[in-house]
Amino acid sequence: MLRPALPLLALALVGTLQAQSPFAPAPPPPSPVPLVTSFPDTPSGKLLTEIREHPGVVQRVEYLADLIGPRLTGSDQLRRAQAWAMTEMKRLGAVNVHEEAYDFGLAWTRGVDSARLLTQNGLRFRVDQLAWSPATKGPIQGEVMLVDARNLAELQPFKGLLRGRILLRSNPDDKRPPLGRRTGDMGAFQAEQSAMTQFLLDEGAQAVLLMSGRKNGLSFTTSGPGRDPKKPAIPTAYVPQEPYKMLLRQVARKEPVKLELSLGGSFSAKPVQAYNVIGEIPGSDKATELVILGGHLDSWDLGTGATDNATGSSVALEMLRALQATGLKPRRTLRVILWSGEEEGLLGSRAYVEAHKAELDAIQAVIVDDMGTGMVKGFDLQGRENCRGLMAMAIAPANDLGVRELSLRVMNSTDHAPFDRAGVPAFAAIQEHVDYFEGTHHSQMDYPDHVQPDQLIQGAQAMAVTTWELLNMEPRLPHGVVTRPTRPNP
Ligand SMILES: [Zn+2]
Repeated sequence: MLRPALPLLALALVGTLQAQSPFAPAPPPPSPVPLVTSFPDTPSGKLLTEIREHPGVVQRVEYLADLIGPRLTGSDQLRRAQAWAMTEMKRLGAVNVHEEAYDFGLAWTRGVDSARLLTQNGLRFRVDQLAWSPATKGPIQGEVMLVDARNLAELQPFKGLLRGRILLRSNPDDKRPPLGRRTGDMGAFQAEQSAMTQFLLDEGAQAVLLMSGRKNGLSFTTSGPGRDPKKPAIPTAYVPQEPYKMLLRQVARKEPVKLELSLGGSFSAKPVQAYNVIGEIPGSDKATELVILGGHLDSWDLGTGATDNATGSSVALEMLRALQATGLKPRRTLRVILWSGEEEGLLGSRAYVEAHKAELDAIQAVIVDDMGTGMVKGFDLQGRENCRGLMAMAIAPANDLGVRELSLRVMNSTDHAPFDRAGVPAFAAIQEHVDYFEGTHHSQMDYPDHVQPDQLIQGAQAMAVTTWELLNMEPRLPHGVVTRPTRPNP
């Protein structure tokens, strides 16, 4: 829902009351969204006006989050969201609405996780199983031990000491010099990770605890190596910083710290398929060329995936709604894609690029919105300096809304990346950070409460006009694979 517009008098009164109370919360910071009162009578201006005056983009996030909920790839809830998205696409005038399947592997469902100290203060505290890691066999009990080895060599001194232990694998107080920049490819890095896990299993460790990177009691999840049944995996969970650091202090006292831990996630009996949802608005004289606008419909499951990425999915659907409402018809074909498997490694967009190899040349551009509720400030050009001029034209109608940035930065962590690597101009929106990487992203805080309607609406406006300009400009963005140094992800 949009924020209701309060009459000025009421606003003044609220201000006075807040000033009088010593307990009144600090007023929110001013919105970074520039106030633009009217837009020109052009197609882009019409889209900007239409989106500004409609709360649809916010309402859809609330629907997805509050009524469908978390949307783990492989889950029934994501299937419900996909059915809903197809109905929405058709209702909003899209044609050729369909799903495309790809092999996903085993689905995973979160169970009940719990942790309780059997010594010291007896505290029960929050733990969240690393998704796709194996469950514990019921509640297990074990002594807690810090094992902050960073590679296989550093693990060797722990030989013979790990049987039955629950391991603390993060050390926020690490004073050792960093290992230095890793060399070698991703395969070598993953092989060493697997060898380390195999060492822990061979030595009889029972489970691993990791510290959440988020502050203020926030937990975190991501997907573990267990998605590949061929890789060794150990029951693993994230612990918020406060209880994790308490465990470290207790262990440092050199007294036994005994924990009862239960991690209840489960795998599907058989591999499942996952799906991308696709809908189109056919073009006119350049109908064989495509602009792809997308977001990922899947989410993590500690919250309801409101900002990661119901927002981006809703923004993509808003383009369909605004085209329908204004009656505008593009020259190129618009293809809206809501991907899945993004959180497990951009699986949906990778599968899409693989399945549509023959069509990649027909794509004018791909743009993706996946950084939460924050306003759009521009796009990362992925090192494609030769696209700057045309992208500057594409964002020009939204310049006054604060959309001005075209950075050469390479951003690889959302669904435009597989297209980019295949040589297609594909860009992720640069967005204002609003409680994202320190807050809602992958945590139990990801609810619509943290959606800022004015910023989300600005984002929908920015994505819509950029898409519109890309659909209609005469020239084509230059394609080509950009060579860049490769380096394993941290
Ligand atoms: Zn995301």
